[in-house]
Amino acid sequence: MSVDKKFLPDSRFSLGDIAAIGRILLVEMGLDYSAAALETDLIIREVTGFDRIHIMINSDQEIEQGFYDRIMELLNLRRTNMPMAYVLGHRDFMGLDFYCEPGVLIPRSDTEVLVETAIEKLGKMDTCKSIYGIEIGLGTGIISVSLLNHFLHLSMVAGDINQKAIDLSRKNALYADKQRREMSGKDMVSVSKRLSVIYSNLFDNIEPLKLYDRDNHGDLYDFIVSNPPYIRTEVIETLMSDVKDFEPRNALDGMDDGLYFYRQIIDKGYLMIRPGGFVAFEIGFDQGEEVSELMKKRGYKDVEIRKDLAGLDRVVTGFK
Ligand code: GLN
Repeated sequence: MSVDKKFLPDSRFSLGDIAAIGRILLVEMGLDYSAAALETDLIIREVTGFDRIHIMINSDQEIEQGFYDRIMELLNLRRTNMPMAYVLGHRDFMGLDFYCEPGVLIPRSDTEVLVETAIEKLGKMDTCKSIYGIEIGLGTGIISVSLLNHFLHLSMVAGDINQKAIDLSRKNALYADKQRREMSGKDMVSVSKRLSVIYSNLFDNIEPLKLYDRDNHGDLYDFIVSNPPYIRTEVIETLMSDVKDFEPRNALDGMDDGLYFYRQIIDKGYLMIRPGGFVAFEIGFDQGEEVSELMKKRGYKDVEIRKDLAGLDRVVTGFK
């Protein structure tokens, strides 16, 4: 369907019109009606600031041409199957908003299990001492930024091989600071100043710590956290089009058996963490046993699998 204002020379579009147009376009593209309605309303809110209730109550309100054009632009992007987080340019994760852009993996709510598990384990460490962590493959930065948002005595070094992810996660750390200031109304302990984002493949360029106040393990970190690429190469082609066609392969592809990055991180990571430190991974639903075994073989203790809200294995942790 094409809708062009030139066929309606004397009329402007109202909120109700554009809401109806969006619903038709997105149903036509394959969404069910309630998803089409929700996504249309989110796009209208993104552009105009008007929420669903406002759109419903003020459906006769005329909208400016600039708003109309921008809404159509976003609806047309969505019609190409582009995921909503890319269309809108941001997404919420654990109470903070994060910028998203094509080329960098979109935050999944599954990853909350990993962050919550890490928060629980870190909460049990001596809270008077500073904590130092590593993240491998940080994408938009949700994991590091959420942990830094939670623990003010934490510092992290986080690497990625994707320059877009490096730039975006730095931007997201500054954005988290802005949101923290707005929420509290005052200057807060900065997240971005405690996050060092570097270009890194696995542990490349991650320096041992140089600290002298940490008993016998001054150069070792307290923990490593990672949501590495874990999908088997042959499975990638079977993923839904919005994932397969829009999200970066190098954030998804875990090589032949999907375990390549776990092997690397489990092996080298053991040398980077102190005794009593831990590694926490997000995993695919069918990788719990294999990743646990790899960890036990390398000498990790108290290896544990956590499930997500759907009851599927989602996180593995182990201590040195
Ligand atoms: N959970 C993601 C997905 O299923 C995969 C993320 C990853 O490989 N780390 O699309």
